[in-house]
Amino acid sequence: MNKIIIVTGASRGIGREIAKELAKKGHTIIANYNKSEEKILELKKELEENKINIDIFKADVSTRREAQKLVEYTINKYGKIDILINNAGISQFKEFTQITDEDWEKMIKTNLNSVFYMSQEACKNMIHNKKGCIINISSIWGIIGASCEVHYSVSKAGIDAMTKSLAKELGPSNIRVNSIAPGIINTEMNKRLSQEEIQNIKNEIPLEKIGNSIDIERCIEWLIEDEYTTGQIISINGGWA
Ligand code: NAP
Repeated sequence: MNKIIIVTGASRGIGREIAKELAKKGHTIIANYNKSEEKILELKKELEENKINIDIFKADVSTRREAQKLVEYTINKYGKIDILINNAGISQFKEFTQITDEDWEKMIKTNLNSVFYMSQEACKNMIHNKKGCIINISSIWGIIGASCEVHYSVSKAGIDAMTKSLAKELGPSNIRVNSIAPGIINTEMNKRLSQEEIQNIKNEIPLEKIGNSIDIERCIEWLIEDEYTTGQIISINGGWA
């Protein structure tokens, strides 16, 4: 059945794949972007050439006001939110002693506050409807920790804690809340890694390969249809951890 779905950070990488594939399946997608307008317009055009529509909305979801605008826009236009996919995120590779207050704040605002703002704004509508599903994209590093990515790991561990707590609080309102924790996925986020570093990572992964955005999207499709999974952190990492 057609669902109204917000995907944050849908202009590139994992979010783009999620928005594209769910739109192809007939869902109504509100694809959020912030800086990459050209890329989201490119996706919209590509889908329209195949007679598939996608709604796009610019918002910096690390701010309360813009997250609120994205939710208001969706409810005013479509009347409800069935699914919220909190995917927008940034990463930064820095030694712990070099992380500035600004780096820390930007990381927490973008990766964690955005999930707080979007979930809080959207769940009011879901509670009213007594139905909803929130899917957060966290990370393997939130579970096992990453050297030189302390602020990133903290932001993702925070998302997982929010997922588990919110699942308990919103369960009685028939709202499921889950995290997907990817390992290494082939997107621009990992462009700083050399071929040699990628090979070394592959050597550590039992399935001996890097993941693709579609691997995350397939799990999203399953979570959307599921009715009894909540409060879970689902690892998709080729068996890495
Ligand atoms: P990506 O290719 O760098 O794309 C990041 C997306 O997030 C872009 O669409 C970007 O939009 C959006 N974004 C960033 N800040 C935003 C903001 N303030 N407001 C709205 N949108 C914002 O990254 P990715 O690899 O697809 O990662 C997607 C998610 O998966 C992230 O949460 C990431 O932490 C997580 N993850 C990725 C991996 C991996 O290996 N790739 C592994 C584990 C977890 P604009 O460009 O339009 O600003």
